[in-house]
Amino acid sequence: MKIKNISGTSELDCVCGSWLKHWENFSGKTATYCGEQYCTETKNLVGAHVRRVDISDSNRYILPLCAKHNKSKEELEVFSKYTLVSANTGETCEK
Ligand SMILES: [Zn+2]
Ligand SMILES: [Zn+2]
Repeated sequence: MKIKNISGTSELDCVCGSWLKHWENFSGKTATYCGEQYCTETKNLVGAHVRRVDISDSNRYILPLCAKHNKSKEELEVFSKYTLVSANTGETCEK
């Protein structure tokens, strides 16, 4: 699937403590590597705010990306098995 970073997102963390932790809490997985399909980075991961660009979907999601890919303004191809977690805290941790 293809995603793009959402620029200008709030840097405020949610009640999970960080967006990476938010992703782990709701995916039930541990973030171990960057979601970009050719990236081998396993350190400096952040919970990036992204949106889908391959389908019509206005939702915002959290996906673990490395610091470099978190700054990317390009469309990124990510592993299809990587779970996207909703960035809408009203539907997740602040329900
Ligand atoms: Zn959260
Ligand atoms: Zn990366």
